[in-house]
Amino acid sequence: MQTPLSFEFFPPKTPEGATKLRQARAELYALAPEFCSVTYGAGGSTQEGTFNTVRDILAEGQQAASHFSCIGATRASVREQLAQLKTMGVRRLVALRGDLPSGYGAGGEFQYASDLVAFIRAETGEDFHLEVAAYPEVHPQAKSPSADLQAFVTKVRAGADSAITQYFYNSDAYFRFVDEADKLGVHVPIVPGIMPITSSSQLLRFSDACGAEIPRWIRQRLVAYGDDVASIRAFGLEVVTDLCDQLLCAGVPALHFYTMNQSAPTLAILRGLSGE
Ligand code: FAD
Repeated sequence: MQTPLSFEFFPPKTPEGATKLRQARAELYALAPEFCSVTYGAGGSTQEGTFNTVRDILAEGQQAASHFSCIGATRASVREQLAQLKTMGVRRLVALRGDLPSGYGAGGEFQYASDLVAFIRAETGEDFHLEVAAYPEVHPQAKSPSADLQAFVTKVRAGADSAITQYFYNSDAYFRFVDEADKLGVHVPIVPGIMPITSSSQLLRFSDACGAEIPRWIRQRLVAYGDDVASIRAFGLEVVTDLCDQLLCAGVPALHFYTMNQSAPTLAILRGLSGE
């Protein structure tokens, strides 16, 4: 496969989770990813877990990207973490605002991801390749689609090198977003984030919270399958493989997979592609 791939993981919470993740990573490394990224919990709650998983990936000889959320953070704490990441050998960050668990006040010295990107550039120059998040179906807290697009442009102009999108199942939303960003002078790679479909209730709940739309025809079928996990997986595989085929045909710069720490769904999608 010529199109670059990247795989996203979250820090495991238990020793069994860590063992399973190591196995999943080993299976996915066979596809020669450009990098593997590790999420960073809201409010820094899993910072140690993130850094440990990033260290593991680097020790396995792969490029690692650390997600870095700034909500609630101070300039001093960000500076310290950047120094730590640099010492660890990390050269790529996914710079985010992040979300606080409900009930927490915002606080902190950064309001938006664009503030973090500008700060990282000012502090560390070109030491890090900076990725930012993009929302083809509009971030749930945005005032309007155009305000969200403008916020994305601001974030890129602050110094981002590339972007990864929230997942989507409607490729038109992605193509339109890329076109609109292009018209506003943003030409950095905007890499589609791909979420394999392996379960119904979890995906529907999560999508409602993060503002990703599950088209009605997909939602209806997922609900109708009930507890029939095999049918959900078979249907999900077909849907997401078709989506990836469309994206690859259109010449997307790369594919970023939200692996949910599992190798099988991502491997099955990539095996099923009709070829570039
Ligand atoms: P921002 O770009 O700051 O945008 C947040 C909101 O503010 C948007 O509604 C935007 O329109 C608005 N906005 C931005 N700038 C301005 C401005 N100047 N004026 C007015 N409004 C503005 N979350 C985690 O906690 N950990 C992770 O590891 C993580 N990884 C992610 C990876 C990807 C690829 C994606 C797509 C999301 C990820 N998230 C993660 C979720 C993300 O933290 C949330 O979506 C969060 O709500 C927004 O983060 P952001 O960096 O996109 O914020």
